[in-house]
Amino acid sequence: MVRAVVCNNIGEPVSVENLSLPPLGPHDVLVRTDAAGVCHTDLSAAKGLTLSQAPIVLGHEGAGTVLEIGKNVTRCKPGDRVIMSWAPQCGVCYHCVRHEAQHCDESWGIRSSRHALRNDGAKVPTMAGLGTFAEMMQVNELSLVAVKSELPAEQLAMIGCGVTTGVGAALWTAEVKPGSTVAVFGCGGVGLSVIQGARIAGAMRIFAVDTLASKRELAMKFGATDAIDPAQGDVAQQLIAATGGRGVDYAFEVVGIPELLLTAFNSLRKHGTAVAVGMPKADATVSIPIVPLFIQEKRLVGSFYGSAQVREHFPLLVQLAERGRLDLASMISKRIGLEDVNAAFDAMKAGEVVRSVVLPNG
Ligand SMILES: [Zn+2]
Ligand SMILES: [Zn+2]
Repeated sequence: MVRAVVCNNIGEPVSVENLSLPPLGPHDVLVRTDAAGVCHTDLSAAKGLTLSQAPIVLGHEGAGTVLEIGKNVTRCKPGDRVIMSWAPQCGVCYHCVRHEAQHCDESWGIRSSRHALRNDGAKVPTMAGLGTFAEMMQVNELSLVAVKSELPAEQLAMIGCGVTTGVGAALWTAEVKPGSTVAVFGCGGVGLSVIQGARIAGAMRIFAVDTLASKRELAMKFGATDAIDPAQGDVAQQLIAATGGRGVDYAFEVVGIPELLLTAFNSLRKHGTAVAVGMPKADATVSIPIVPLFIQEKRLVGSFYGSAQVREHFPLLVQLAERGRLDLASMISKRIGLEDVNAAFDAMKAGEVVRSVVLPNG
């Protein structure tokens, strides 16, 4: 039996249940979950905002240790430390061979076909084919990356979603250039990761935009050079004024609010790039003025999973953390048990935490 956090009814509190795992298939890996980060997408799934289904074992950000492997598994062996990837990447499909593995053709099928079992044999799907809020996970081998590192599991776990999504948006989607100006709208866990990515890329100025003073202050510790308070007036005008009337080179929207994406676009200099990183509601749309898009050659791009090629980039992020270039330790606000996930969701809604990390095995 495996203790796991299950969302049974969308919009209601989640509960801890005892589930079993199906027999190990030839490409399956049994992983002990050493740590799992609580991400906004878990909250969205439980609240019914995006990608919702119920019942479901929650959790899509995590790290663990391989316990057992199926007979055809080649990517890891028992005892390996692994970081879970919510976008499985096969390495050989149309997108994978073009270095666009975040769009791997195999990904959706794997993500949506995994489950744990109730006593009566009923299947409970696992979020993203993972379900990291559980003592153990049984996953396809394409859903993990083995890493050699002595970093604490709680730090490795965050590389599985929030850190890669944010750092990757700066490094691999936007390819932020040294000396550039960057604005980051929303300074939660992913926003702070964008800020760190921009800092690693050598940005000269990084503007942290957030309604909460505590988050703006925190952002300065992760590499922001300036804070913008939306209560002080139109954010686009503030950013344009702060950059000599020009506008910023890059603006990252990390909340998922359409109006904020428009503000990010309006904050750009000519030929600047706005990046949509935040997860919007499923039916969200935004109107963009076409004249500046065209005449000023502004760019608007989406960033999915930080455009990361996980087999290359997870180990790179691990090394950046080991060498002190990427601060993972300071992003962890709380360590909790499986039974504390509801409280962690409340703290997240209140903006009180950067990351709560679940330690399912204590
Ligand atoms: Zn996430
Ligand atoms: Zn692929």
